[in-house]
Amino acid sequence: MVSDDAPKTHDELLSRAASYAATVDVDLDRSAVDWEVSTRAKRRAGACLYDRRTGDVTIRLTWDAYRAYGWERFTEVIRHELIHAWEYRRFGESNHGPRFRRKARELDASVRCPRFSEGRLRLVCADDGCSWTAERHRASKAVTRPERRRCGSCRSPYEVEHVATGLTWRTNAGYRRARKRIGDEW
Ligand SMILES: [Zn+2]
Ligand SMILES: [Zn+2]
Repeated sequence: MVSDDAPKTHDELLSRAASYAATVDVDLDRSAVDWEVSTRAKRRAGACLYDRRTGDVTIRLTWDAYRAYGWERFTEVIRHELIHAWEYRRFGESNHGPRFRRKARELDASVRCPRFSEGRLRLVCADDGCSWTAERHRASKAVTRPERRRCGSCRSPYEVEHVATGLTWRTNAGYRRARKRIGDEW
């Protein structure tokens, strides 16, 4: 998973991330970006924090996500968070709107905040107050016909998320549309 020249410690990951970031084609003052490693984040592969007062940006990289992805794939997380950093510094706000999507296409980064998990598919309870999720690897009935099943904890409907693309659906029709869009990346 982690090849020989890949970062092996938190410090190595931080310095590699910073030097990689310098090669990414985004109009951003790299000295305004702080890098840190999170060992606690469970689902977000990275995060970008903005201090409105000082204008400083912190990009937080999730260690477990790096271990799961390996360096090559993890660079996509870095590109994604750099787009947030660029938007914050330049526009004072950041979301996943049209401006973000254009930049993400340019930089070959995902539009959704990258999540990590072992499974290809994730079931997520639709009730905001419920934290139930489950992982699936195959297109079982729970994945293709979610409308017939319920959250394993509170019995609310749930949403299926295709982890790699971030596409979600709650019905069989939604599944079929998503499957078509995902195509070979399934
Ligand atoms: Zn994001
Ligand atoms: Zn629930």
